[in-house]
Amino acid sequence: MPDCLFCKIANKEIPVKLEYENDQVVAFNDINPQAPVHILIIPKAHIEKVSDFDLKHRDLITEFVLVANEIAKKKGILNSGYRMVFNCNKDAGQAVFHVHLHLLGGRQMSWPPG
Ligand code: 5GP
Ligand code: ZN
Repeated sequence: MPDCLFCKIANKEIPVKLEYENDQVVAFNDINPQAPVHILIIPKAHIEKVSDFDLKHRDLITEFVLVANEIAKKKGILNSGYRMVFNCNKDAGQAVFHVHLHLLGGRQMSWPPG
């Protein structure tokens, strides 16, 4: 995907400090953090949105949660709490059309979300 910002981050055309990397995903700090910990976990493969997931993505889908838990532990928010968010399409406010899981923590959050 030549014009995809997150593909460029995943394949290191755009250098960012990675918080985590394995064969399927990379994770890095959000440029506009909404909490003391705000990390984006993205697949290395270009997938536009969560609604494009199907059964062939089963392992990747599992990976998002396991990696988020691992990063939460590394960041010291495993016990205080954290939130995982996928925004899908317009009404959810998705702005970047390369799947990303937001991992947010380090402050008290409210519910319902805005
Ligand atoms: P969405 O609304 O699509 O779920 O979230 C996109 C997120 O990507 C936003 O939280 C935004 O701050 C973040 N973002 C957009 N451009 C960049 C960038 O160039 N670098 C980083 N690190 N984050 C970005
Ligand atoms: Zn992409």
